[in-house]
Formats: sequence, C-alpha cells, structure tokens
Amino acid sequence: MAEIYIEKLYKEYGKVVAVRDFTLRIENGELMLFLGPSGCGKTTTLNCIAGLEVPTSGRIYFDGEDVTDMPPHRRNVAMVFQSSLLYPHLSARKNIDMSLRSRKLTKQEMNRRVEETCGLLGIIDLLEKKPFEMSGGERQRVATAKAIVRNPSLFLMDEPLASLDAAMRETLRVELVVLQKKLGITMVFVTHDQVEAMTIADRIVVMHLGGVQQIGTPMEIYNKPANLFVAGHVGSPPMNFFEGSINTTDHGLEFVHSSFHLALTKETANVIREQPRDKRYVLGVRPSSIDLSANPVSDSLRGRVYGVELLGKETVVIIEYEGGRIKTTVPPRFSYSVGDSVYALPQPEAIYLFDADSGESLIA
Ligand code: ADP
Ligand code: MG
Repeated sequence: MAEIYIEKLYKEYGKVVAVRDFTLRIENGELMLFLGPSGCGKTTTLNCIAGLEVPTSGRIYFDGEDVTDMPPHRRNVAMVFQSSLLYPHLSARKNIDMSLRSRKLTKQEMNRRVEETCGLLGIIDLLEKKPFEMSGGERQRVATAKAIVRNPSLFLMDEPLASLDAAMRETLRVELVVLQKKLGITMVFVTHDQVEAMTIADRIVVMHLGGVQQIGTPMEIYNKPANLFVAGHVGSPPMNFFEGSINTTDHGLEFVHSSFHLALTKETANVIREQPRDKRYVLGVRPSSIDLSANPVSDSLRGRVYGVELLGKETVVIIEYEGGRIKTTVPPRFSYSVGDSVYALPQPEAIYLFDADSGESLIA
C-alpha cells in the first residue's frame, strides 16, 4: 500500500509536451482513474509513476519518499497493459511464477502464493494452460495475477480492458474493483472510456492535451464539470451546447440563442449579474434535461426529428434545427418519428453556463 504524491510533473518529447503541470495526491488504498482521449498523456504519466519514463521536471513521492530517480524495480509497482505480456510458450503458472523469481521463496511457498492469488481471480483451472489456449479475458486475469502475486504497493493498469468484448469488459471491471478493495491496494487505472471511469473510480482525473482538467469523484465530475471539455466528455449521450448572450427582461435575465430564449432562474441570474455585460456564453444542457413537445411552445427551439434510438429504459431523440443537431432523451412511452416537428427547451434549473472564451464553468 502506498500514498502517492505527484508534484508539478512535466514530460516533454522534443517539442511535444506530453504531460504538463500535473499535480495529484492519491490516497492509500484509493482507486484513482485517469480519463481522457487518446494522446492526452495518460500512459506517459503512468510510466513516470512506474519509473519507465524519466520526468522532464517535477517530483514523485511514494509514502513521502522521493522516488523520482529510483529505478522501476525498486519501486514495488505492478503494471498491467492493454494486451498482457505473457510468455506464449509457458503455462499460466510459469508466467505467474516469474514474478516471484527474485524473491528466493521455497517451491512450496511459491505455489501457495500463486494458488492464493489465482483463487482470488478465479483462475485456478487455468494454471496449466498456455496463453493461446485462453480467451482475452482469461489472459488479462492471468496478467493481473502475475502483477499482484508480488504484493506490490501500487498497482497500475493501462487500459487493461480495452481489447476485450463488451460483456467481458463489464465482468472483469467489477472483479478488478472487488479485488482492489479486498486487497486494499492503491490503484491507478487508465481508460478513455467514460462509462468505465464513472463505474469504477473512487476519483477521476480528467486529462486533455497533457493537462489536468478536473479532479473529483465521479459524481462531482458529472454534476459540476469545471469546464466545457469535462462537460462534453462525461455523460452519454453527451451534453448539448448553445452559444449565446444574456439579455435583461422585465422579469430578470434570459439566455438568448439564435433559435430560442430561456428565462434564467434567480440563482443562475445572481451568478451572471456579476459578469461583464458583453460576455459570450455557452449554455450546456444534458439530453435528459430538455423538455420536448409536439406542440408549439413560445421562445423554444423548433426542429425536426432526425433520428430515434430506442434504448429500452429511455429513447434518444436526435433533433435537427437550423443551428445543427441536439440529442434529447425521453421516457420510452413517448413516441417520436423521423420528420416530426418538435419544440425543445432546456429546463432552466438544469442548465450549465460556461464562459465562451475560456470554457470555464460559471456555475459552481
Ligand atoms: P495516452 O496514453 O493518453 O493516449 P500518451 O501518454 O501515450 O497518451 O501520449 C501523449 C503524447 O505524447 C502524444 O502526443 C504522444 O504522441 C506523445 N508521446 C508519447 N510517447 C512518446 C515518445 N516516446 N516519443 C515521442 N512522443 C511521445
Ligand atoms: Mg495510452
């Protein structure tokens, strides 16, 4: 077990800044998740923690000890990758044994440790099989066993489920969380899949272009996105955005978009009143927080149904209007057909407002 502190980490490859100003404290026993699109610096950060890459600047501490210059094998870190690195000609048992070679254990003690770990992962039956005789999910289980059999103080996983089919991904991600909690081991888990992130993380670091966008629990990230990037990246279907300005009316403030007007709640208006007058805003609204109607509603966005996706528990209605397309979700009892005229309006208490220039959220 270990508490990790990463302080102002930078990693540059020539002109490419892969990681910039990355500061993060990971608690003992925490499952910390790095989420972001391909190329945003997740693997590079992980490799710096493991000692496989040398930071350009910044420090890394394990339990208060500066490990920045410590070679990887002395850090007691285990790593699992997208495609596991198993020796193809060796059985699962021999692959796992290898992790314990340097420990000088008796054959008995080695077998005991291997079997205990494989018991935890439900792969005792696989011990004498070779990698080509296993499914992708089984290989990742063996790779996980190989990683944790050494009792590492930190467990790093770089998109370990990305190459598996959807059903196996779901099964294994539940198992990994249960295992991580059972062992109480600190884990950093990397993924570009926001659903995976939301379901397993204690906390999420959202990354973009090498930088930290937000650090928080899944609910904090979802409910209070710090900026447009986070808001657009977390949630499915994604949040809808409308650029516009704020107008004063007899009743208070309203958001003005080329396709609709929306009266702001008192709470939102109070925040916005402190902003400069000519500011441009982006209004964000989740698909589930848009009211749809087949009948005209004053000041609402008018469009046509472009597509309908039946998901069972809800229906996604894609609407095309003069400014583009938006996605809304409605309960399955509502039926809309392609080509229907519809009127849409965001629910005023559910909207987000962002600074159009900086992208920062204006509503805390
Ligand atoms: P992610 O894991 O989030 O997809 P990476 O950490 O692999 O992102 O990469 C971050 C950025 O650093 C990318 O622009 C990538 O091209 C660049 N990069 C990563 N490794 C190297 C390397 N060894 N040499 C040069 N550029 C690299
Ligand atoms: Mg990567």
